[in-house]
Amino acid sequence: MLSATLPSLSAGFVYPGDPGWDEARSAFNLTLDQHPAAITLPVTARDVAAAVRYARAAGWRVAPQSTAHNQGALGDLSDTLLLNVQGLQDVHVDPGALRVRVGAGVRWERVVGRLNAYGLAALHGSSPDVGVTGYSLGGGIGWLSRRYGMQANAVTAIELVTADGALVRCDHAHHADLFWALRGGGGNFGVVTALEFAVHPVDELYAGALFFPYERAADVLHAWTRMLPHLPDALMTWVTLGHFPPIPDVPAFARGRSFAIVQGAFLGAEGDGWELLRPLRELGPIRDTFANVPPIVLADLAMDPLDPLPFHLTHHLVDALPIEALLQRSDLSLMQFRHMGGALHRATADAGVRATLPGEICAMALGVVMDEDSGRAVRRSLDAFDAALQPYRAGDYPNFVEEPSDGSRYFAPEDWQRLRAIKRDYDPTDVFAGNIRIAPAS
Ligand SMILES: Cc1cc2nc3c(=O)[nH]c(=O)nc-3n(C[C@H](O)[C@H](O)[C@H](O)COP(=O)(O)OP(=O)(O)OC[C@H]3O[C@@H](n4cnc5c(N)ncnc54)[C@H](O)[C@@H]3O)c2cc1C
Repeated sequence: MLSATLPSLSAGFVYPGDPGWDEARSAFNLTLDQHPAAITLPVTARDVAAAVRYARAAGWRVAPQSTAHNQGALGDLSDTLLLNVQGLQDVHVDPGALRVRVGAGVRWERVVGRLNAYGLAALHGSSPDVGVTGYSLGGGIGWLSRRYGMQANAVTAIELVTADGALVRCDHAHHADLFWALRGGGGNFGVVTALEFAVHPVDELYAGALFFPYERAADVLHAWTRMLPHLPDALMTWVTLGHFPPIPDVPAFARGRSFAIVQGAFLGAEGDGWELLRPLRELGPIRDTFANVPPIVLADLAMDPLDPLPFHLTHHLVDALPIEALLQRSDLSLMQFRHMGGALHRATADAGVRATLPGEICAMALGVVMDEDSGRAVRRSLDAFDAALQPYRAGDYPNFVEEPSDGSRYFAPEDWQRLRAIKRDYDPTDVFAGNIRIAPAS
């Protein structure tokens, strides 16, 4: 029995059937079950190193995980140790240096409030519940991305345990190849134990949402898409077409109702922001929450669900929207369209492998699944959403891919060859199973 030969770990392993097994293998998307060989929940970097060595001795692969928000991408976990870093919870903010250091298990919710107190903001996304690590390793697009780019490229140092059990610190000057690969290459190169990243001074910004009845979705989308080419990088806007369930977690005014919502965040003066949104305001929103607000407001602006839920999801990066075809899919719980471009299209010299993302709009759709029948109906609707967008596709964003996929489709051929060579250098026997698949170069 393997557990009899466990190395000494301050947090142990959990095996199928053990008390706590179901809790340890639970994930954000309730349609998916994780069935690894074992799970370990380390609380120190040394625990992580011991667990990696142990898994190798047992002949297992290692799948690093933080919050399980992207577990669908991992696929089959048999003969795999699920190494969940949620015990690594340190957060340190250095406001003078505009730097943050977090343990690999930290969710954005533990960072944004602390930064807010110093008049600082990070490049987090729509949900405070998402983990800093998976988000950063895959790219990371949020409210400030058109101005400041992806979170992956705000990362200044990464500490990780590599396949030989060594704790390595990488940055621009140390293991620079590995540092490049990690910032976009996901969990393929080791188990991250800590991340450091740059943040931005943001005392206040003009942010909020314009709510329209769902029936106005066509007008809203037409007005919004006409505006996009003229908007400055300092303004990020999303259109969300959503049916809100009648549950207490949803704000009272939205409970059980459907809306076309334009959400936005503008790093600029209120008057300028108001003017930029004028074409949408002229459509007559029934609720307008835009105001000068502290950056902590961005954590909840999208009103993402915080509790796990059962859903299927799809997305595309596109250059245009076939609005009428998409509105045929109003049966879906949520369709969301995020303005891309700006800094997301500009590579900086020191960026990682995920330097930019293509497309003018990120189009995403999600259907909540209540039973097998509704699951099939959601799949059919998502397939129709995919088909409508196919002619306009510019690419994919790996963090929004919820099934196992070959990483080659996300990178330019030369970057892909370099990623595989770095994988061979640091993980020649392919111990680490990431959320996108990168096989070592042969
Ligand atoms: C409700 C919701 C809202 C979202 N909003 C946004 C958004 O606004 N913008 C955006 O860009 N993305 C968004 N995402 C996608 C999100 O960025 C990805 O799901 C991301 O992978 C989640 O990271 P995680 O660490 O929370 O999840 P996990 O499932 O724990 O991790 C995802 C992957 O990251 C890697 N990883 C995690 N921890 C480690 C580690 N310690 N060492 C090595 N590898 C590791 C692994 O490969 C793992 O499979 C959202 C997802 C959800 C479910």
